[in-house]
Amino acid sequence: MQHRIVVLGAGYTGAVAAGRLAKRLRREDVAITLVNAEPDFVERVRMHQLATGQDLKPRPFSEMFAGTGVELRLAQVTGVDVDRKTVAVIDANGTGQLSYDTLVYALGSRWNAQGVPGTAEHAYEIAGRPGALRLRERLTRLDAGQSVVVVGGGLTGLEAATEIAEARPDLDVALAARDGLGDWLSPKGREHLRKVLAKLRITVYEHAAVTGVEADRVATADGKAIPAAVTVWTAGFAVHPIAKATALEVTDSGQIVVDGTMRSVSHPDVYAIGDAAMVTGPGDKPLRMSCASGTPTAWQAADAIAARLTGGKLPNVSIRYFNQCISLGRKEGLIQYVTADDRALQAVLTGRLAAVYKELICRSAAWGVANPTLGLPTRRRRVTRERAATGSAVKASA
Ligand SMILES: Cc1cc2nc3c(=O)[nH]c(=O)nc-3n(C[C@H](O)[C@H](O)[C@H](O)COP(=O)(O)OP(=O)(O)OC[C@H]3O[C@@H](n4cnc5c(N)ncnc54)[C@H](O)[C@@H]3O)c2cc1C
Repeated sequence: MQHRIVVLGAGYTGAVAAGRLAKRLRREDVAITLVNAEPDFVERVRMHQLATGQDLKPRPFSEMFAGTGVELRLAQVTGVDVDRKTVAVIDANGTGQLSYDTLVYALGSRWNAQGVPGTAEHAYEIAGRPGALRLRERLTRLDAGQSVVVVGGGLTGLEAATEIAEARPDLDVALAARDGLGDWLSPKGREHLRKVLAKLRITVYEHAAVTGVEADRVATADGKAIPAAVTVWTAGFAVHPIAKATALEVTDSGQIVVDGTMRSVSHPDVYAIGDAAMVTGPGDKPLRMSCASGTPTAWQAADAIAARLTGGKLPNVSIRYFNQCISLGRKEGLIQYVTADDRALQAVLTGRLAAVYKELICRSAAWGVANPTLGLPTRRRRVTRERAATGSAVKASA
């Protein structure tokens, strides 16, 4: 009997985990199913590029996973029953159900309007492809001199504001940041950021908590009204509500609480990775939602599942940060080197070299997804009959 592994979500982490499992385990022993709503891989880290008119390379999953032994299922996940070990899906043929022995939950995240009035009606977002395409269409209809306000001074806000200002120098682009501009960066990093934003003529509103979005302006807590023909909302990501509706232990925000092997602390047959997981990182701090820390969670989960199924050694790699790679348009960038727990060091890389570095990081992340089983040593170990049959035997022996 094959052990059924179902991976939900084929983003940066789910696709990598499915490929790694396929490489680690014998095909005769496991049936790996990868469920995703869309037929091709979406490079989320390039959504600001898509929104500003750049075309991304198409990456169909059918090509990426051909010959790997991973079965693709194009469907929308609508629910998970962790007691019956089933996943409810809907596709063009109607509703269906998948049963699993081990589940890898990697559904990622979406934009977080944070309940600010007017966001749903008036704001644009770039957390996923539909939102980025909607913004792209809207930007093409803006006339010279019209205003765009990017709300959110985090990494996504910085990348979006600079990309828009570079692509459309005729627009009046502003950035509204709740805190000081780049105040988590090193002094050199902050200085470079200010220089680039000034060069791109981006107006920066610091300590500006946005409290409302209207059709032509945003309102801030200190009573300002910033003109905005278009508001781009980048203030944080929120996970999909599916996990919160299950019996899994989740945080208030709905992330699945996992241990160091990415296994759910409440349900040992379930693993969670990427944005969907609450992983405690170095310094006992939660890992932030990012590819930088998400991809290692996928490696860790796949290796832990393979180890538990085959009686191998559990992985014990601590997931750490090395740098924050920020694109500032296509010609500029900022690489901020950081401690293991993501605090800025003095060292930075800036300018064209930083832009090239960031581009290489994005390309290598996509390459890792597009070549899910390449570059890994083949060590397909046999799944022991007992472990394959029962999740509880796996739990007891780990
Ligand atoms: C504009 C932008 C720039 C970013 N830049 C960076 C960066 O420079 N560096 C960095 O480290 N991180 C960056 N991030 C964050 C990074 O993209 C995410 O942290 C990363 O994509 C998380 O990976 P994931 O696999 O958890 O989720 P995702 O990559 O979002 O994948 C989730 C997958 O699940 C699928 N899915 C979702 N719901 C369902 C459902 N109900 N049914 C079926 N399928 C479903 C989706 O279609 C998707 O394929 C950026 C994000 C954005 C939006």
